[in-house]
Amino acid sequence: MINNPMEKNKDKEIDVLALEIHDKIKGLKMIYNTYTKKRGAPKLLNIFCKKCLAYVMTYQKDGPGKLLRCYLDRIRLPLDLQKRQFEYVKRGKNTSLDCKSCSTIIGTPIIYKPENRPAYHMIYEHFNAINYD
Ligand SMILES: [Zn+2]
Repeated sequence: MINNPMEKNKDKEIDVLALEIHDKIKGLKMIYNTYTKKRGAPKLLNIFCKKCLAYVMTYQKDGPGKLLRCYLDRIRLPLDLQKRQFEYVKRGKNTSLDCKSCSTIIGTPIIYKPENRPAYHMIYEHFNAINYD
């Protein structure tokens, strides 16, 4: 595997992408509000497509536990996904969260009823979440 040049290039691409993401993320400040207080200390997660390994988004998860839902107001990057929370307010609907590279559906739109908060129900088998420290 190590001697396969294609594999090596793929690794390099992922490294470059990781650096680009890192540059954008390091300027981000955590959002603190009532949701953060309720759930616990926030952390940033990078979400990748499990099928093609493409970067999907950077998400602020409040508190511990498995990533079952992603709230629209906690999507930090990229900008077009971050803007969906405002589009939702305007149009009252949301579309699924797809991998831009291979179109795999990563999350399906829901309203988290207890908080009346638009979110994605995350399809666990379709993504990897990596802690950003
Ligand atoms: Zn993909």
